[in-house]
Parts: sequence; C-alpha cells; structure tokens
Amino acid sequence: MRYLSTRGGMLPKTFTEILLGGLAPDGGLAMPESYPKISPAELESWRSLDYPSLAFEILSRFMDDIPADDLRTLITRTYTDEIFGSEEVTPVQTLESNLHLLHLSNGPTLAFKDIAMQFLGNLFEYVLAKNNDELNILGATSGDTGSSAEYAMRGKRGIRVFMLSPYGKMSAFQTAQMFSLQDNNIFNIAIEGVFDDCQDIVKTVSNDQVFKQKYRIGAVNSINWARIAAQIIYYFKAYFAVTRSNGEAVSFSVPSGNFGNIFAGHVARMMGLPIKQLILATNENDVLNEFFRTGLYRPRTTTETKQTSSPSMDISKASNFERFIFDLTGRDAARIKELWKLVDQGGSFDLSDTDLWKKIRDFGIISGTSNHAERITTIRKIHHKFNILIDTHTADGLKVGMELREPDVPLICLETALPVKFADSIQEAVGFVPEQPDGYDNLEKLPQRFERMTADAEQVKRFIAHQVGPSNQMHG
Ligand SMILES: *Cc1c(COP(=O)(O)O)cnc(C)c1O
Repeated sequence: MRYLSTRGGMLPKTFTEILLGGLAPDGGLAMPESYPKISPAELESWRSLDYPSLAFEILSRFMDDIPADDLRTLITRTYTDEIFGSEEVTPVQTLESNLHLLHLSNGPTLAFKDIAMQFLGNLFEYVLAKNNDELNILGATSGDTGSSAEYAMRGKRGIRVFMLSPYGKMSAFQTAQMFSLQDNNIFNIAIEGVFDDCQDIVKTVSNDQVFKQKYRIGAVNSINWARIAAQIIYYFKAYFAVTRSNGEAVSFSVPSGNFGNIFAGHVARMMGLPIKQLILATNENDVLNEFFRTGLYRPRTTTETKQTSSPSMDISKASNFERFIFDLTGRDAARIKELWKLVDQGGSFDLSDTDLWKKIRDFGIISGTSNHAERITTIRKIHHKFNILIDTHTADGLKVGMELREPDVPLICLETALPVKFADSIQEAVGFVPEQPDGYDNLEKLPQRFERMTADAEQVKRFIAHQVGPSNQMHG
C-alpha cells in the first residue's frame, strides 16, 4: 500500500514513511492510493473474529510495511481487557429494537480517542526504536486530545510529550487527569492564556524548521492516518454485533468535530461494509452540517467559534474534511488544490451548483445539528427511558440520529465520552452527578505536576531544549 497527498505533490510513500509526518510537503493530507476492497466472503469470515484479530485483518491492509508478526504483537498489546475494560473493547448495547449504543469510551481517559491513540503509542515506540530515532510531541489541548495523547505515550521509550493547556481553564477532572501523571517523559505546560494562545505557540515553534529538526518535534493530531485506520475497526465490529448476515445494512450516527471519526466510517463503507447512512451530528459549531445541507463549506474564524457544553466538537474547520472531498472528486488532486487555496486564504467554497454535489448522495453522509437545550433534553430522555447516562457529545449524536434515521434500518450511535467528564451538564439534565468509574474516585486529590508559563513561545522552546538537551538524550 502506497500513500499519496490529497494535493498531488508527494511521491508515493509507505505507511511508516507517512506515520510520523503531519501534513504532506504540499500542505495536503496523506491518503492510501486506493481502499482495500473486502469481498462478501471475506466479510463473512470476519464475523466471528475477536477485536484484536479483526484489527489485524484491517490494519495489516493499510500498514503492510510492518512485519505481520510485529503488527500482531502491537495490536494484542493494545486491545486488552485491562486497558479497555472488556475483551470486546467496544461493546454494543441494545437500547431498543433497531437502536444501539456503541461504547467507545472505556479506555484510560474515558473518551473514544483512546482507541486509536493507545495503538499509536505502541506503534510510535516500535517505529522509533527500529530507526534509532526519537520524537518530542508538542501539542495544545483544551481537554480530550491532550490527555488521550499523554496516557498513550506515558513511559514510552524514545518519546516525550510537551502538552500546552490554558492555565485554569479545563475542568477539574480533565486537569487532574493530565497533571497527575508523574511519568518523566510527560510535560504539562499550563499557559497563562486561552486555548488559542497555546495553539499559536505550537504553530510558532513548529514553523521554526531548525528548532523542529534539531529537537525532533512532531504532533499527534487528528489528521494522522494511523488514527483514522484504527478507528475503522469498530465500525466493522459493531456491524457484526447487530446483524446476523451480510445482507443487512446498518446506519451510524457520529458526533463530529474534525471529521476523523466519521471519515473512518466512510472508509469502512468504501471497503465494502454495508453501511446505509452515516449520520453526522454537529453542535452549535455547525460548519459540517452547513456543508452537507447546502454544499457551502465555510470555515469559521476563532471568534465565530462558540464554546459549548460538547467542547470536543467546538471546531472552526474540520481537518479531515479534505480527505472526504478528495474522494468526492474521484481523487482529483488538482481540484483539491484549487478548493483549498480558497480555504487556506481564509475563504470558502460552494459546491451546490457543481457536478460534485449531484454525487454526494452516493456517499451516504447526511447531517443535522444540536444545541445545548437539545442535548440536555436528550440526556434526560435517554436516562428516563433506558436508565442510562450519556455524555453531551453522545447526546448530540443521538439527537440527530433519532431525527434522521430510517425506521427499518438498525441505528448504531457512537458513544464518544463518558458522562463523568461532563458532570455539570449531567447535573443540569437529571439533577445528580454521574458516579466516578472505579479507579477514578481519588483522581482530583492526587498530587499534580505541571510547569506554569506566560504565553511566550521562546520560553516554551527553552524549556523543551533544556529537557531534551544533549545530556538528557534517551538514546546514546
Ligand atoms: C474528538 C471528539 C469528538 C469529535 O471527533 P472527530 O473525529 O474530531 O470528528 C467527539 N466527541 C468527543 C468526546 C471527542 O473527544
């Protein structure tokens, strides 16, 4: 399997060659040259596989330059009962006939990002050791991504994480989750400012090519192809859980932000999984809903981006969306270059009067949006009807999914975080706070380890240089 750029300016590369890079050199995103097609017979033979075996079947098709035995080891080390709370890893719960909840949030940080990130941690460690290299991950977070990355990379050889977060602006639970880590390869940097200040510092440091090269600076953002690939697995797993034969189709509803999760569903569908609809749900930040309803893609400015009670979906533009449009154009890199020239200049594009818009139905994605009042009502209703608690993001997905589903097609709603992470909204909806899962009850009382800094990229650079510096190198 070779990888190309959505903008056509990258020579074909292998999986491990694109693994540690961010954007392609031409500013595009890496894409497999084609999607592996799964025949009906193969699909049938996958039905009885456990999670690690199914993961191997899928990932080995995308990561074919990793020796099969090594890949199998990385997978079996990642997808365990111990890390994900059950051997099923992503169990499906049936709420009523044709309505199911796919639990994706039983990893260490209680959000779905763990599923891909835990694998990425093992994969990075393996590839870095093989190349006798090291990586210093620099990121900015306002919550889920940062903690998921830290829990995936903690204690990994050859990797350090420098994670910037806005001082005093994350929830107590999220802060405790990150700052209580005592591993000496994890560095929490609390910036006196807001999330955008953190992100600006990351950009400034990453744009300094000399520094970036010298200190092996990298990222683990949602455009990483390995993260997409690892998210394809649970679409297959859930499909097998709710159907008896491959003649049946299902639909999924997906709370969406950067378009990573639902894009993995799109890939599963392109591979041959019988998915009828992929129902995309946004919150008040409805960039993607606007596109799928009207054909207009208009990324927002940061001041237009609202802070909501489903914060992990508060996006101004959707990083992985370019990959979908690449497929929509029939993989026309010249056209992507044209469209994203507009986007990169802060503009927008409108496909409504084009040939492409006529084809969009073939891709099965439909969309809807939800707001704070609706997610609170959904949490309350679901609790009342099924006696379970869902978090705010999952509520957006359920709200839109129930609105748009076809009555006779089983709907699988993706649960993307546990309610305990968003206790205030749960309190508002049902009048009590969710129970802490086992092992988390003491979290907020643990000692915290972090550096506090002003919003100054030079100070962050000095800190990284000091930690990495020659006397501190991990390998010889
Ligand atoms: C990241 C995240 C999302 C959005 O997923 P994308 O892949 O960015 O679309 C939804 N819910 C939760 C809880 C998340 O952490």
